[in-house]
Amino acid sequence: MSSPFARDELTARFMAAFGHAPDGVWAAPGRVNLIGEHTDYNEGFVLPFAIGPTARAAVRRRTDRTARLISSYGDEGLVTVDLERLAPSNMHGWTAYPLGVAWVLGQQGVTVPGFDLFLDSSVPTGAGLSSSAAIECAVALALNELTGAGLTREELVPVGQRAENEVVGAPTGILDQSASLLGTEGHAVFLDCRSRRAESVPLDLAGAQLVLLVVDTRVSHTHATGGYASRRASCELGAEVLGVPALRDLGAADLREAAGLLDDETYRRVRHIVTENDRVLATVKVLVEEGPAAIGALLTASHASMRDDFEISCPELDLAVQTALANGALGARMTGGGFGGSAIALIPAPAEQTIRQQILAAFHSAGFRPPDVFTVTPAAGARRIA
Ligand code: ADP
Ligand code: MG
Repeated sequence: MSSPFARDELTARFMAAFGHAPDGVWAAPGRVNLIGEHTDYNEGFVLPFAIGPTARAAVRRRTDRTARLISSYGDEGLVTVDLERLAPSNMHGWTAYPLGVAWVLGQQGVTVPGFDLFLDSSVPTGAGLSSSAAIECAVALALNELTGAGLTREELVPVGQRAENEVVGAPTGILDQSASLLGTEGHAVFLDCRSRRAESVPLDLAGAQLVLLVVDTRVSHTHATGGYASRRASCELGAEVLGVPALRDLGAADLREAAGLLDDETYRRVRHIVTENDRVLATVKVLVEEGPAAIGALLTASHASMRDDFEISCPELDLAVQTALANGALGARMTGGGFGGSAIALIPAPAEQTIRQQILAAFHSAGFRPPDVFTVTPAAGARRIA
């Protein structure tokens, strides 16, 4: 993981790029989804938490309608755009995330002035930790404050989501932005994606002598195309054939009838969503009643469902999960949209070094690229830091 600039260094870089100091610096974290994958756009349940790494946006209002943006990542250099001419069709590359947020706010009647923006992020990109939502949420918080728009965090969630859906073209739900904006230290965010009601659920890993290991396979995925969109289409088809507004409305008892009405592939897609929603609810109950050491089997069952029914895993993710479990993990699963990205493993703290080594060795033997292995803890959500 790249290390973020110290806050003062970010301000210094902003000054070097733009010749004046920023009005402020806003940080928004990436997230790990503990459980509840692809359930968000099916109006179901998810249980993510905000993590330590953040995207940080240093921003200064301008008096004209020009936006100038630069990121410490990549070598694109300074991008200058006229906000008057902003449209989803003319936002490209990484700037589609911050500009998308400015555009959505404009669509919602907020007068967004020109701005200078310097972005630095320690959230690895394409690792399934939502570096994209981290950018959207940092920028949404910044522009909300600088324009005096006064939107609540709950209202900023769909601002980031619309930027992702309508500008970037990734048909994602509200999971990522909710975790980044509503997360609190030591807690997961239990989210009902239909009512959009969010509730904090205690997730005290250290207190239970547990560690949550992330294995970034460094197999990259693209949500805007391919598998993610086709899974979403299968879910919509399933709901339509079964006559429900969303797959959220189905329970385990409906699966028998579903098997008779759907083709095998669509049935398995539906079965993943139905069983995954039940696993999220069970995980919340177990966390509250017994604590995190007791959720392992639910995580592992979630992985099997994604691998076999939803078919969004890949050999690297399966190997990470399998190796962790074989070496003492209590549970493990891929996390994020799938087709690459990261797996998580819930492990007893004393087993951390062994499991790390075993995973690296297994990847080496399989001829896979070395994964990036690190731990995460439930951290604070988006906030102003300067
Ligand atoms: P994920 O959200 O899982 O990390 P996405 O494909 O949704 O993956 O988002 C990754 C994209 O976000 C990158 O391709 C890039 O456009 C943008 N991005 C992430 N971090 C940065 C950064 N520090 N600077 C510029 N763009 C970034
Ligand atoms: Mg993303």
